Amino acid sequence: MTLILRNGRTDAGEPISLTLADGLIADLDPAPEATPEASCIDLEGRLLLPGLIDAHVHLDKTLMGRPWIPHAGGGDVASRVAAEKTLRRGLDWDVGRQGDALLRRLSASGTTTVRTHVDVDDLVKLDNLHAVLALRDRWAGRMTIQIVAFPQSGVLNCPGMPDLLDAALSEGADLVGGLDPVGFDGDMDGGLDVVFGLADRHGKPADIHLHDRGPAGLAQLRAIAERAQALGMVGQVAVSHALALGEPHLEGFEGALEALARAGVSIVTSIPGDGAFPSIAGLARAGVNLCLGSDNIRDAWSPMSVTGMIERAMLAAYRSGYRSDDQLRRCLELSLIGGARALGLTPGAIAPGAPADLIALDAPNIPAAVVERARPDLVVRGGVVVVDRIDSRKGLTS
Ligand SMILES: [Zn+2]
Repeated sequence: MTLILRNGRTDAGEPISLTLADGLIADLDPAPEATPEASCIDLEGRLLLPGLIDAHVHLDKTLMGRPWIPHAGGGDVASRVAAEKTLRRGLDWDVGRQGDALLRRLSASGTTTVRTHVDVDDLVKLDNLHAVLALRDRWAGRMTIQIVAFPQSGVLNCPGMPDLLDAALSEGADLVGGLDPVGFDGDMDGGLDVVFGLADRHGKPADIHLHDRGPAGLAQLRAIAERAQALGMVGQVAVSHALALGEPHLEGFEGALEALARAGVSIVTSIPGDGAFPSIAGLARAGVNLCLGSDNIRDAWSPMSVTGMIERAMLAAYRSGYRSDDQLRRCLELSLIGGARALGLTPGAIAPGAPADLIALDAPNIPAAVVERARPDLVVRGGVVVVDRIDSRKGLTS
């Protein structure tokens, strides 16, 4: 099926029309017209961008798709893990239904590629993984989904976890995850031995949750970078959160950044609202790839339902004190370019031969889309229209 998108506009303000075929951008045509073999959508001057990449969600944790569940307060990581288990035990948990509701929201926000962590532990075992694998099958034409086997209950403190992670990687998980080797398991080398041992044995990448701050956080970042290099996993390891990278006063901070850059370790940030996070400018200066992820979306960890990378880019700009157009553009590029690099993909482009993962926004350019938190009116994934709100918005002013 051929699809023509006409009368769009680039970030530079240039008019553009595209012909999409076989899941790719086939042609840049200045003024294509519909033919009997092709359908045509008039973008009416909307901004056309590659699909957005959300590098960190939890499809199996969300409460979306259910009636409102009251949210409890905070606490440290261990107490929140326990609170989440208590909550789940009291509910008829349905990963398929709840994850589907979240994917719909992500898709409507312009996300065409997502990496999800999926809990693996001694209670759920591989049940959540199997449910998310089935969800991925159902969404195969609408969303690219990478799956991380995530030891939410710890790698060493949860009985049988190494074997469970091993089984998860054999049964379809794309990456092995990890969780605060020091802060949660109390054994940096023991925890990393398991994670990197599994990654090496299965030939799969790793994406490790690291909330630990201070010298312990930096020491773990250095250890992760060293292990990635030693195992030939340069460019195949991500660290989610890496909150210690928001503490530039720490001794050895620059050395840790250099080690991360050498090992091609990507950092994923959700732009947390309650403390320091990795500096966008600082990581760019050091050559460390940084990208954005939603992390928890209306679940036991957070009540917030910020589902879009454009909204997340606005939060990045807001919390960084950014004002210039270049800075605002850089915040969305964390998803477009940084996200692709972190997920081992080629950054999207509006060019012949590029995947036809595209969004159209009612905004003149990227900086305006970020400050207005523009919601896509059209989302195309693999050349197929996933979301189309153009007709329904006719006559609206924005
Ligand atoms: Zn997470």
